[in-house]
Amino acid sequence: MAKGKSPSANKPCCSFCGRTEDESVLLLPNGNSDAFICDMCVEYIHDFLDKHMSGADEEQDMANSATSGTQFKSAVVNLRKPKELCEFLDQYVIGQNEAKRYLSVAVYNHYKRLLQPTTDDVDIEKSNIIIVGPTGTGKTLLARTIARVLDVPFTIVDATVLTQAGYVGEDIESLLTRLLQAADYDVDRAQRGIVFIDEIDKIARKGDNPSITRDVSGEGVQQGLLKLLEGSIVNVPPYGGRKHPEQKMISVDTKNILFICGGAFDGIERKIAQRLNSHTVGFSNVARKGVDRDNFLQYVAPQDLKSFGLIPEIIGRLPILTHLEPLDRTALRRILTEPKNAIVRQYEKLFEMDGITLHFADEALDYIVDKVIEYKLGARGLRSIVETVMMDAMFELPSSADTVKHLEVTEEYARKKLEESSFEANRLQE
Ligand code: ADP
Repeated sequence: MAKGKSPSANKPCCSFCGRTEDESVLLLPNGNSDAFICDMCVEYIHDFLDKHMSGADEEQDMANSATSGTQFKSAVVNLRKPKELCEFLDQYVIGQNEAKRYLSVAVYNHYKRLLQPTTDDVDIEKSNIIIVGPTGTGKTLLARTIARVLDVPFTIVDATVLTQAGYVGEDIESLLTRLLQAADYDVDRAQRGIVFIDEIDKIARKGDNPSITRDVSGEGVQQGLLKLLEGSIVNVPPYGGRKHPEQKMISVDTKNILFICGGAFDGIERKIAQRLNSHTVGFSNVARKGVDRDNFLQYVAPQDLKSFGLIPEIIGRLPILTHLEPLDRTALRRILTEPKNAIVRQYEKLFEMDGITLHFADEALDYIVDKVIEYKLGARGLRSIVETVMMDAMFELPSSADTVKHLEVTEEYARKKLEESSFEANRLQE
């Protein structure tokens, strides 16, 4: 570095540009030598470094995503292969093997699509999913479990509360408000989330023909949903509803949000049966193997949804169609004990926290399943029956945990508790 002396007047000057204090600059001395730097040069160097460093960061990021694009972005979702996804689902959901396979593949492909470079010619389309199955057979559980394994924001919306904008009920955008809330208002995360729309069958339009009169809770909602399903930028009120007119909207791009729709489609079996009766020729499995008349749902096809009142555009945006099996005795019995957070395990845990070991005899569990079947309560009923059976013990035992260290729930115990409660009486009146 040049010494900071102006050759003409031997005055201190900037070692970079040569300006002296006479030229209205401020000179900063270097403590150990008589070198100086002026404020203008400091500013210039600051700008230079700023530009240079941020450019380097950008280049580094681009290099990262080009060379290890998949790794770089897959950190964003916890992506696993379809088989691994299915194995994870197996830990929480009993049976429903076909739905698990479809869901695992669809979710895997969906998130692979997110990793696709934007420059690619082949544009992978979205794999929104529709699951048809009786109520209480695991539709929500499947969607919730898959969101858990991927570690993405997840929300459940009931389609029946949605109405066309401007009508009583919730605007369609409200489902994105909930997703934003689930993502702690991290818009990027919300844009990779999963929305489960339950009871999609309840917004079917009333007839198979387009309505002439306004159908605000049916076709109107379907039209609104269409926009979200296909991917668009939506202005979302962050606090939802119409109660906060002053709130600033947040733009959410739905292109990469995965929509899973579920519905019981009560009576769809009849429509499937009609279709199969009129087209049993062809090269399908059905034609080869003959129709399994006990379970028509396994043959569900997009046209059945149409005849149920979903508009073709919506069906087109839900390309993955799968079904759930009704839960038989064996499945109900397994649900009690096998899933990672099985009902029986949950009660064991509750008692364990009071230092009491709880054990259900096999016959008691069989008895509980019998009651669920007798009263046609489905899987949800398992929990309410176990709760009724355990109520007295949950009330009494924590106070006598010093003396009572074990509770064996036998069939006799379960029967007695159920009979003593108003449970059976209530059911019989229904
Ligand atoms: P729906 O099909 O109506 O969405 P849910 O997924 O909400 O049904 O199921 C209700 C409850 O029943 C779940 O929380 C779970 O405890 C239990 N359940 C239903 N189906 C299954 C299943 N296949 N495996 C394990 N538990 C199930």
